[in-house]
Amino acid sequence: MTAGPRVGRALVLEAPRKLVPRDFALPDIGDDEGLLRVEACGLCGTDHEQYTGDLSGGFAFVPGHETVGILENVGKAAARRWGVAAGDRVAVEVFQSCRACDACTRGEYRRCARHGIGDMYGFIPADRPPGLWGGYADYQYLGPDSMILPVPPGLGAVIATLFNPLGAGIRWGVTVPETAPGDVVAILGPGVRGLCASAAAKEAGAGFVMVTGLGPRDRERLELAPRFGADLAVDVSQQDPVAALRSATGSLADVVVDVTAKAPAAFAQAIALARPAGTVVVAGTRGTKLVDGFSPDPIAFKELRLLGALGVDAAAYKAALDLLSSGRYPFGDLPRRVVGLDGADELLATMSGESSEAPPVHGVIVPAGPIGLDGRTTR
Ligand SMILES: [Zn+2]
Ligand SMILES: [Zn+2]
Repeated sequence: MTAGPRVGRALVLEAPRKLVPRDFALPDIGDDEGLLRVEACGLCGTDHEQYTGDLSGGFAFVPGHETVGILENVGKAAARRWGVAAGDRVAVEVFQSCRACDACTRGEYRRCARHGIGDMYGFIPADRPPGLWGGYADYQYLGPDSMILPVPPGLGAVIATLFNPLGAGIRWGVTVPETAPGDVVAILGPGVRGLCASAAAKEAGAGFVMVTGLGPRDRERLELAPRFGADLAVDVSQQDPVAALRSATGSLADVVVDVTAKAPAAFAQAIALARPAGTVVVAGTRGTKLVDGFSPDPIAFKELRLLGALGVDAAAYKAALDLLSSGRYPFGDLPRRVVGLDGADELLATMSGESSEAPPVHGVIVPAGPIGLDGRTTR
């Protein structure tokens, strides 16, 4: 094993909008641990909500929970447990699992008694040694209870960071609602999670997939949707989505997946789009507190199955990496911005909608800088 440099540089979020570079001593790696050289860290809504302080989990910490990198160093026991070797490209599951508590043995490791929701990578206090608990860094520490996913050979690090949103798309768009072949599926929100849910639903055999968005900011995303499995893309500022779905399919949706952010009217649309006895998945957090124009009665009249979904699991992540590696959908062509650590501030501000610039569908931090990656990796 290589000795490597003695310090790793990380960006520490000390307060809202205060991302400060800090050097951390690289830890010695024991039998049960690992050290990842971060190649790329994907950004999602959670990242910019952490950045702006909308999602407050206490400061300071190294954010970044969609990490892909090369195992620089891995202990013998950890390598055996994770099925990996030093030098492998891997993705890191956000959650940790003790593998022993009731929740973990039931497979519900998101509620692990030892770790749980407060102990996710990208959220852990920087003053807990060794501090390198997130992906906005040259190196990320991998504790004994990490869950590590090997990246299929030939899949570049930047695209591989989509394991996270595509894993979410698979779980929220297929696994949770039990989407079946032939189903009519409506996906609200054409961001990276919506496009991923669309591809996942199509891959599961959905008979018809509609993706909705709102206004000019979503235009480019709606134009992309057909390449990610959508049969119909609807701008709800121009067209009533219920009428559009009825005229295209003659019916309402068997499954509705709401992955919108900051779109308070979407929940009422989700209820309206679902067929009687249909399923509505409200997935991820949306940064809105109030829901406009919503009456609960249709939920009762239609006897809807209303399901919440927050996280993803290792099985969905594995399926996501396989689907990315298959090349069946053009994930390489997603409008994407790749920045080094020094560009993180600006990219996060753009993605939070605070800048005049339209946010990219996929934002990625490459700690070594966007230049110098091999050609495959940047695509
Ligand atoms: Zn995320
Ligand atoms: Zn546990």
